[in-house]
Amino acid sequence: MRQIFLLVLLFVVGQWFVKALRRAQTQSRPGAQPGQGAQPGQGAQPGQGAARNADGGANGKAALPEPMVRCAECGVHAPRSESVNVGARSFCSSEHARAYDARTTAQDRPAR
Ligand SMILES: [Zn+2]
Repeated sequence: MRQIFLLVLLFVVGQWFVKALRRAQTQSRPGAQPGQGAQPGQGAQPGQGAARNADGGANGKAALPEPMVRCAECGVHAPRSESVNVGARSFCSSEHARAYDARTTAQDRPAR
């Protein structure tokens, strides 16, 4: 009776690993095929999937720190994904990008 319980537990853990793997794949590649990682027969060999998943988790690819960029207008550091890039400069928001652009164009044409 205890063996059956262990088998069920292994199956559940295997399904959990498959789900975690699929989530990691869809996060890194939005265009990947979602049905590829779901194989019902994989529960028979949970050791292989577990070892592979542990390897990928040790690398910590999903937890990479995001590079920070400095706003050219106010000097605040913001993550690159949330920053606004205009030319070679980065800004914390589109408002500051516009303000910086207005300021520099005003400096270019002082007579007005
Ligand atoms: Zn700013």
